[in-house]
Amino acid sequence: MNNAPEEGRGILRSAHDLDLCVRCGSCKAQCPTYGEDVTEGMSARGRVILLKKYIEGEIGPSEILDERIFSCMLCGACNTLCPLGINITDAVYEGRKSLRKSGKRRRFLGVAARLAFKRASTGFKVLKFLDGLGELLPVHKLPYFRTLHEMGVNITGPSLRDGTSLFKVARPRGRVAVFAGCTVNFLYPHIGSSLITILNSMNFDVVVPKGEVCCGAPLLGLGFEEDAAELAERNMKLFRKMSVEAIIGLCPTCVYFIRDEYRKLIGDGVKRAMDVTMFFSSEKPEIKKDMGQILSSVAYHDPCHAIYSLGLQAEPRAVLKSAGISPIDSEKGCCGLAGTFRILYPDMSKGLLEKKVESYKDAGMIVTSCPNCVLQLRSGIKGGNVKHIVEIIGEAVQGEKPKYGSS
Ligand code: SF4
Ligand code: SF4
Repeated sequence: MNNAPEEGRGILRSAHDLDLCVRCGSCKAQCPTYGEDVTEGMSARGRVILLKKYIEGEIGPSEILDERIFSCMLCGACNTLCPLGINITDAVYEGRKSLRKSGKRRRFLGVAARLAFKRASTGFKVLKFLDGLGELLPVHKLPYFRTLHEMGVNITGPSLRDGTSLFKVARPRGRVAVFAGCTVNFLYPHIGSSLITILNSMNFDVVVPKGEVCCGAPLLGLGFEEDAAELAERNMKLFRKMSVEAIIGLCPTCVYFIRDEYRKLIGDGVKRAMDVTMFFSSEKPEIKKDMGQILSSVAYHDPCHAIYSLGLQAEPRAVLKSAGISPIDSEKGCCGLAGTFRILYPDMSKGLLEKKVESYKDAGMIVTSCPNCVLQLRSGIKGGNVKHIVEIIGEAVQGEKPKYGSS
């Protein structure tokens, strides 16, 4: 018996890729789940061994296998450490595709996730409606809504996609597009607006494509490759029509998906998809305010996909430096959000967040380039200053008096 999915992205039609593994364990060194639960099956190497046995039919679906494979945060740290170049996250995607319907709980999760991510705009409207009921049905007092408000989320405001889609300047030097991503679009649209202002200040016309949908990462992560491919195709249809120099993303996961994973999913991706820190480090915004004079002890938090999938480490620091900020040293490590991981594995997520919060105890402000890390870190640092890098550069470019606090 062979449990490999019959059709896939062509990465692991059999266990051959995993045959290369010599079980050296190098991939375990920075595996965040192994850091939380020191069990071999919760490590990168453990997952490789389990997947090989599963694909070859030596073991079948089980609750424990489900937990081991679906608790991987897909952070990609292991891929950068394997001396033989085994793409462990691709193996996990394949395993999940095969396991996605094993058991009632997983089938239910699949239906809910496909509804939520394929109809994100509708889901958000429902959320807004419920939150806006005020005293009639005070859902805003429920812990879920309270947490959102603590994270600085204003779900009653308009989303970024609701507004204008072309922001022109008088004498453009070029045209770029912004891929907002769901978190910025629905929860932190002010970050998207700030990016548009910065890009206009650099004399770029800016397009915010109408009809943008979720990049597909959460659905691929849950094993729904066909649904993720459908979303990828919808976004690519928009991108193919645009004549722009670059597509700039505010979330490193979206950027790495559009650039790299789309090619595996649908055979087409955007070579010029750039994380905002990549773009700002090559096309420098004009800084009018020295933010180093205002902010002291800033720590920079590296989002997993920025560091492991896009290879960005120097770029965000150079961007901060250009605004007068020299971030204090801080340790690498996942914040614990990882898409649906925070909901499905709350204890491990909390453990990882606590470690991060502790590692930033000397910082007056934490800056990052991922809106999901902003969400997660704000939930752990009560009333704390956690900012997306675009918020800082937005202030530096405009030269206005900064308004800090949990906005
Ligand atoms: S680092 Fe590579 S070869 Fe070593 S155990 Fe991990 S997957 Fe196998
Ligand atoms: S992707 Fe991250 S969580 Fe998953 S096995 Fe690799 S290091 Fe561990």
